[in-house]
Amino acid sequence: MESSDAEMRYKEAQFKKRYYLKMEVMCFYSQHDPPQCANPFGEHQLPYTNLDALTIDHIDDDGAERRAEEGHGYRFYCWLKKHHYPGGYQVLCWNCQWIKRNQGLRANLPNLQL
Ligand SMILES: [Zn+2]
Repeated sequence: MESSDAEMRYKEAQFKKRYYLKMEVMCFYSQHDPPQCANPFGEHQLPYTNLDALTIDHIDDDGAERRAEEGHGYRFYCWLKKHHYPGGYQVLCWNCQWIKRNQGLRANLPNLQL
């Protein structure tokens, strides 16, 4: 089913609103414009700046608890802005998020041998 012009304009406006808020939040936490991954594991030779794959990371890793309060995605970006960009966050790409997550899992299994 095709969207009407009004629906398309509404979807475009929604997309723009989310895109510009995400850009603002990511620029703030990366201290770069365009925003980039903090690259904590040296994964990137060049700054990684694809906004579609950038995320906000809870540096001290209590994400699951906090996310219940803060929400995900757009709701989370609204929460950060509303709370005047609190500390404790950094910008990571999804690759670096997964590496960090797996390192955390392995750290809880000190006898694990791979
Ligand atoms: Zn990265």
